[in-house]
Amino acid sequence: MYRTHSLTLALCALLAGCDSAPVAQMPAAPTLASATPVSSKPANVMLAAWVGDFGGTPAFDKMQIADLEPAVRAAIKAHLAQLDEIAQQPDAANFENTLVAMEKTGELVNRALVYFSIYSGNLSSPEFREVQAKLSPVLAEYRNKITQNSALFARVKSVYNSAEMAGLKPDQRRLVTLVYNQFVSSGAELSAEKAKRYAAIDSELAGLYTKFQNHVLADEEKYLYLSAEQAGGLPESFVSGAKAIATRKGQAGKLAIVNTRSSIDPFLTYSTERALREQVWRAYYSRGDNGDQNDNNALISEILKLRHERSKLLGFANYAQWRLVDRMAKTPERAMALMQAVWPAAIARVKQEVSDMQKIANAAGDKITIEPWDYRYYAEKVRQERFAYDSEAVKQYLNLDQLTEAMFYVAGELFDFKFTALAPGKVPVYHPDVRVWEVTRLSNGVPVGLWYLDPYAREGKRSGAWASSYRSHQTQGNQAQGGPTTVLSSNNSNFIKAAAGKPLLVSWDDAKTFFHEFGHALHSLSSTVDYDTLNGGVRDYTEFQSQLLERWLFTEPVINKYFRHAKTGAPMPAELVQKLKNAASFNQGFGTTEYLASAIIDLKLHMIDPANLDPDAFERDTLNQLGMPKEVVMRHRTPQFSHVFANEGYAAGYYGYLWAEVLTADAAEAFAGSPGGFYDKTLGKSMVANLFSVRNSVDPAEAYRAFRGRDAEIAPLLRDRGFPVPEGKPVDK
Ligand SMILES: [Zn+2]
Repeated sequence: MYRTHSLTLALCALLAGCDSAPVAQMPAAPTLASATPVSSKPANVMLAAWVGDFGGTPAFDKMQIADLEPAVRAAIKAHLAQLDEIAQQPDAANFENTLVAMEKTGELVNRALVYFSIYSGNLSSPEFREVQAKLSPVLAEYRNKITQNSALFARVKSVYNSAEMAGLKPDQRRLVTLVYNQFVSSGAELSAEKAKRYAAIDSELAGLYTKFQNHVLADEEKYLYLSAEQAGGLPESFVSGAKAIATRKGQAGKLAIVNTRSSIDPFLTYSTERALREQVWRAYYSRGDNGDQNDNNALISEILKLRHERSKLLGFANYAQWRLVDRMAKTPERAMALMQAVWPAAIARVKQEVSDMQKIANAAGDKITIEPWDYRYYAEKVRQERFAYDSEAVKQYLNLDQLTEAMFYVAGELFDFKFTALAPGKVPVYHPDVRVWEVTRLSNGVPVGLWYLDPYAREGKRSGAWASSYRSHQTQGNQAQGGPTTVLSSNNSNFIKAAAGKPLLVSWDDAKTFFHEFGHALHSLSSTVDYDTLNGGVRDYTEFQSQLLERWLFTEPVINKYFRHAKTGAPMPAELVQKLKNAASFNQGFGTTEYLASAIIDLKLHMIDPANLDPDAFERDTLNQLGMPKEVVMRHRTPQFSHVFANEGYAAGYYGYLWAEVLTADAAEAFAGSPGGFYDKTLGKSMVANLFSVRNSVDPAEAYRAFRGRDAEIAPLLRDRGFPVPEGKPVDK
């Protein structure tokens, strides 16, 4: 998960890396914000300029919830007034007096929302959630007020259409275009009458999203109660958890199987009771599709119709076209072409997986044909036979402090960064567990910024792992810093603290996630952009950099130097390393197919005219046309696809995971094939220059071409996942 300081939420790795839930705890502020002059020192500490070394840092030691609501309200008021001033100035609009001026507004909002984000992500409490509930409509209204400021938009549009554009630098032109597109896609061009309809659609959709989510949640709260004799094959930890839930529900002595992924996944993997597996599977994949009061099919039709109408109002042929304008893929057709290129290899792999599983079932005398509710169960048997590694043994070599040092080593080799731990108390932190490092250029000592690490789980901290920035780079500086601003970047995890004096040992997956989030931090720290808006993430691109950094976990210097046994200090045995590498391709046919089926349906639903749509029939017909293997079901069937229908976060955007992973695999092969491997100096410099430091100041597709000399190809991803690679011309994306 990743947030920039402007609190834009981006997508995260699906199969590895940080949590993939579309948690929109943070209201997305517009990316139009930056530095503002403050005439007098505000009494509210959350609005005060950040003081001290390193270009000033947030006053985390002085913040209190009581200040939050007044700070956010005052900051918003100030920002809207600044924008009005820009809009109403008498001089004709130009790049400097409009776009640059806008970039320099909103500093107070940024400050207040940094504190808001800490309370929301790291220190939540009932008291905070009350404030949050009051502020969310305020923040939504604030965003609307900016995009509905017609005088401001008129100036942006005038610059966008001006002769001045041709003379601007490419990044300046991009800034104008991004801001212009943001206004247009929010309805700024609409006539008063159409704008009214647009607003009505938005508010109707908001209500439908809530209903959709409530229906899914209601179906997830249906429990299946089992007797103790029906627990065959289930791990002890699962049984005790299921018993505890049953007891809480007044069914002591029984096991409660909750209808959620975290509960059904282990059940379907381990239960030896085939009939129960089928029952659990059917309940889970029927959520929102039972023809009862929680059925979502009618809502889906309604949501799609309204989205389509709104896209038409904005002048787009369909929702997907509107949605992808500023994405790397740019058009739904290109995103679809990528998915359809990977699809045949994925379903071919499913065939192999099913055949492997059928052999195991036959050998065990099970007398069954593999059905969807058997997949996880027999896949686990394949894993144990061919891909298993002892996760406890692996853990002994993965010590969090050593992994941190390994990340610093990689950052030094590739990014020319040096990390120096600051003494506690040197800069304010919001919890004693948070540690801070100064980041400087390794070669010349020039300051880059700070890196905050909040590693441990605690009550009130959201789950999973994520990265955020409290301040982004702007070459021209902001109010507090005349020169380039120093970056304040943070990583957050939920490790369980080790006992005093003991090393904190982590799993292989957690080690990957730790590197992944550090990739986000390096992406922020590397920025060289002139304007803050150009730090913004691109949804189908912003997970690529962090996914790529995960690959250095498997490089020899990291393995040899930093994977050391907790007790003996011995390096990780080559055999164990190989087992970890092999495990990466386990069950990828299933994983890729269940994901792709959902992503393809998501995109197709948003490319059609949804009048008279029957979602159930559409799903069935599309899967038939695709040749969906009968042993696999969509990861999220349409009536339960909350990523897409409980909000707009991933609507027409679920493809983005694959898009980023294709780039990751292709870029990793570039390193693997270069003379210096993953530490090749030339390629490393090109990676930082083309893929990291430019952020969104260059079109991502152009940036990638500058790095690779061509577009990304899908063959590396197919190889990574153990898929057959088709002969002939490679497919570009
Ligand atoms: Zn991420």
